[in-house]
Amino acid sequence: MSDLILFWHRRDLRTTDNIGLAAARARSPQVVGVFCLDPNILRRNDVAPARVTYLIGSLQELQERYLQAGGQLLVLQDNPVEAIPRLAKALGAQAVFWNRDVEPYGRQRDRQVAAVLREAGIEVQAYWDQLLHHPQEIATGTGKPYTVYSPFLKNWSSRPKAEPAPALAGVTGLSEDALQFAKTAGAIALPTAKELGYLWTNPLVIEPGERAAKAQLDEFCRRAIAAYQEQRNFPAIDGTSRLSAALKFGTIGIRTVWAVTQTVEEQTRSDEARDGLRVWRQELAWREFYQHALFHFPELADSPYRQPFKNFPWENNDAYFQAWCEGRTGYPIVDAAMRQLLTTGWMHNRCRMIVASFMTKDLIIDPRRGETFFMQWLIDGDLAANNGGWQWSASSGMDPKPLRIFNPASQALKFDPEGEYIRTYLPELRGVDTDALISGKISKAERDRTGYPAPIVDHKQQQNRFKQLYNQQKALSPEED
Ligand SMILES: Cc1cc2nc3c(=O)[nH]c(=O)nc-3n(C[C@H](O)[C@H](O)[C@H](O)COP(=O)(O)OP(=O)(O)OC[C@H]3O[C@@H](n4cnc5c(N)ncnc54)[C@H](O)[C@@H]3O)c2cc1C
Repeated sequence: MSDLILFWHRRDLRTTDNIGLAAARARSPQVVGVFCLDPNILRRNDVAPARVTYLIGSLQELQERYLQAGGQLLVLQDNPVEAIPRLAKALGAQAVFWNRDVEPYGRQRDRQVAAVLREAGIEVQAYWDQLLHHPQEIATGTGKPYTVYSPFLKNWSSRPKAEPAPALAGVTGLSEDALQFAKTAGAIALPTAKELGYLWTNPLVIEPGERAAKAQLDEFCRRAIAAYQEQRNFPAIDGTSRLSAALKFGTIGIRTVWAVTQTVEEQTRSDEARDGLRVWRQELAWREFYQHALFHFPELADSPYRQPFKNFPWENNDAYFQAWCEGRTGYPIVDAAMRQLLTTGWMHNRCRMIVASFMTKDLIIDPRRGETFFMQWLIDGDLAANNGGWQWSASSGMDPKPLRIFNPASQALKFDPEGEYIRTYLPELRGVDTDALISGKISKAERDRTGYPAPIVDHKQQQNRFKQLYNQQKALSPEED
C-alpha cells in the first residue's frame, strides 16, 4: 500500500505544471486533491462576485481533471486550520503537500495548519510554485530584498528559468469507504458562487479554468505579443494578454507561460516583436517584484512604504469617493474606466493608473479606499499587485519616482485619441464630439441632454493642492528621494 498524500490547492488551480502537486505524485500515486472554501477570506469585505465566479468555474474544471487522472478533488468549507487536519486524519494521510503563498494571511494560516498536522504526526511539505523566482532567491549584493524595480529586473532577468513540471496522471482514487470518511470529515459538493452569496450576472470577461487560460496565452502570443510594446497602453485595443485572473488563481503555471514566450522568442525575426516580448516579460517581473515586496515587507498590506505618506492628511470627501466609485466624476476617461470595472470586473492597466492617480491626487482620498474598492470588483484582484499598483499610483510605495500626477485630459488624448474607449463605456456620450470627450469640456447643453455630470473638481487646482500637502509632509518627515 502506498502513502496517501493530500494535496491542498489554493492559488494553483491546475494539474499541469504544478510544482507541489508534481512532487506529491512523484512520491505516491495516491494523491487526493482538496480545496478549502475559507470563511476567513470569503466573509471579508473585499470579495468580488466576478472573482468568486471565476474561482468556482476553475474548481469545476479542476475536479474534472482529477477524475480524468484517476483521482478526486475534495471540497471543504470551513476554517482550514481545523478542516485540513481533520480531513488528513480521516483519510489516514501520510503527508499534506501545498504550494507556498506570499500574503500575510496565507502565511500565518499555513504556519498554523502545519503546526496542527505535525502535532498529529502528519508530514508537511511546502513548495514555491507561483513565481519564476521565489522571494528568498533574489537579493541585492548585500543580501537584502530589492526595493527598486530596475535592479530587481536585471537580477531576475539574468537567472535561468525552470521548465514546466509534469502533469498529473496515473492517480489511484479513493475507495467508496474512504469517500464516506471524507464526507464525515466535511467534504461537500462544490457550491455555486450564488450559494456562497456572490452573484455576478454579467458575462465573465475571462473564462475560468486551466484549458481557457492556456488557450488565452497561446492566442495572445499568436496575435498580440509582437505588438505589445506599441499597443499595451491603448485601452480601446485588445492588446494585452488578459491573463491576470489566470495568474492570480494559478489556472496557468508560470513556467508554462515562460516556456511559451521562449518558443515565441525562437520564432521571432523582427525587432518590434522582440521588443513586444521583452516588455511583456517585464510585466511578469513587476508581478514578481510586488509579490517579493509583500513577502519581505508584510506591513505594505496596511500602510504606505514612504515616510511622507505615513500621516498624510487625506481629505476623504465621501461624496467625491461615491462619484468616483460610480463613474460620475465628470472626467470622461475616469468615468469610462470605472464603468468598465463595474460592468466587466476588469479594467485596462492604463486606466487603472489613471483612475488611481485621479482618486488619490485629484480627489485627495486615501489610496486604501480605492484599493479595497478595486478588490470588491476585480476578477483578478490580488493583494500584492493591487497594493503595489495603488502605492505606485499614490507615490507612497517602493521604487520612488518624482511626484507624478496624471492629467486625465492628456492621458485621454494620448491613449484614447478617438474617444473609442470612452464611448464604449459611456454610451450616453456617444454623440458628443471627440474633442469634448477627450478634454472633458462637455457643454452645459450636452450635459443637460445626456445627464452627464459637470467635473466634480478642477484638476489644476487639485494638483496644486496635492503638491502643497505633499511638500508639507515631506518637510515634516524627510527621507531620501
Ligand atoms: C491601481 C492598480 C491596481 C492593480 N490591481 C491589480 C490586481 O488586483 N491584480 C492584478 O493582477 N494586477 C493588478 N494591477 C496590474 C495590472 O493592471 C494588471 O495586471 C493588468 O492590467 C492585467 O491585464 P493583463 O493580464 O492583460 O496584463 P498584461 O499586460 O498582459 O501583463 C501580463 C501579466 O503581468 C502581470 N502584470 C502586468 N502589469 C502588472 C503590474 N503593474 N503589477 C503587477 N503585475 C502586473 C499580470 O499578472 C498580467 O496578467 C493593478 C495596477 C494598478 C495600477
